[in-house]
Amino acid sequence: MRPIYAELQSSLDALSATGNLRTLPHAAQEGRYLYAEGQRMLNLSSNDYLGLAADTALREDFLRHVPPHDLVFSSGSSRLLTGNHPVFDELEAALARLYGTESALLFNSGYDANTGITAALSDPGTLVLADKLVHASLIDGIRLGRGTWKRFRHNDLDDLERLLKQEAHRYKRILLVVESIYSMDGDMAPLEGLVALRRQYPHALLYVDEAHAFGIRGPQGLGLCEEKGILADIDLLIGTLGKAAGSAGAFVICRRVMRDYLVNHVRPFIFTTALPPVVAAWTLCVLRRLPAMSARRLRLQTIARRVHEALGRLSIPDKSATHIIPLPVGDSAEAVRRAHEMQRQGFYVRAIRPPTVPLGTSRLRLSLRADLSDDELDALLASLGSLFHPDAARISATDS
Ligand SMILES: *Cc1c(COP(=O)(O)O)cnc(C)c1O
Repeated sequence: MRPIYAELQSSLDALSATGNLRTLPHAAQEGRYLYAEGQRMLNLSSNDYLGLAADTALREDFLRHVPPHDLVFSSGSSRLLTGNHPVFDELEAALARLYGTESALLFNSGYDANTGITAALSDPGTLVLADKLVHASLIDGIRLGRGTWKRFRHNDLDDLERLLKQEAHRYKRILLVVESIYSMDGDMAPLEGLVALRRQYPHALLYVDEAHAFGIRGPQGLGLCEEKGILADIDLLIGTLGKAAGSAGAFVICRRVMRDYLVNHVRPFIFTTALPPVVAAWTLCVLRRLPAMSARRLRLQTIARRVHEALGRLSIPDKSATHIIPLPVGDSAEAVRRAHEMQRQGFYVRAIRPPTVPLGTSRLRLSLRADLSDDELDALLASLGSLFHPDAARISATDS
């Protein structure tokens, strides 16, 4: 092997030695199940939280009613050239109407939206203050930007306030970057406090990534900012469409002037072929039904509550307040072992390891979904008991 490849191989070997080597799983999805290594498992690792991507009736209904001019599988170019199919405008108008704001802008993915927007807004006169645990796509964009950036302690308003007091007067623009629900711990940002803090700094913009809340939280499923009644206070609200919405792509909700600025400056918007129009048509189909899907949202909350209660009974540390629930393990190899055991019991749960999470904090992560049956939920709770608590059998027996 040429030395240049040997070097790559040895870095992979190092990952492997610590249990942190990533490989692509071979798996086929069918509804809420996943087939891998000849086994059928409930898929508790996808972000299809409402079961919309798995909903074949919904898909068939879409295919029966989609207008032929929207059944187009390539947009052929960037939207700034010839790729601006009318369905994109229609989808953006529908989003703006739902959010009661001036405008929305679509992106090909949440990764594109986050890297592109944060980089475009971070010029040399900008200070970016980001929560310590924001998603990799936000970190990448902030690093690409030309401004100064600092991270504040996770969900710590005092730390953020301290930084603002110290630094804000030196910059012409401040960008505050947070998520509403954090996917590694399943916890929520102190959004009302962030809004109050932002109000003290007229030159600050509040950027909230709702990737794990869009579709799920709020009366119409618009996210945690809708639930908390603070939509009008968010300067840039990001929703991703590949998670609860069961589609692909992402959007930002913002003022008209912001949208015009982004269209002119966001490189992953300008220099990429637009999504296939049929994808936007499917998103639009889902979006029109989303406000009325409160039964699915309620079901997901109920399932999450039952899992949290079970973790409490098992004395498993639980920082999550949502449908995303980490099960702390610590050691990577042990996390992988327990993930395999859960898979053997029919639950597709994966180990989350460094570099996604800090060294020594490997965990399993449950991504709950609204389409679990009661029996499946009971079986899941029993499986958690058997893996995480030696006395679990006794505990679940006294339960029933
Ligand atoms: C998944 C995710 C993204 C990326 O969205 P994609 O559409 O998958 O590229 C961005 N932000 C957060 C918080 C996410 O969880």
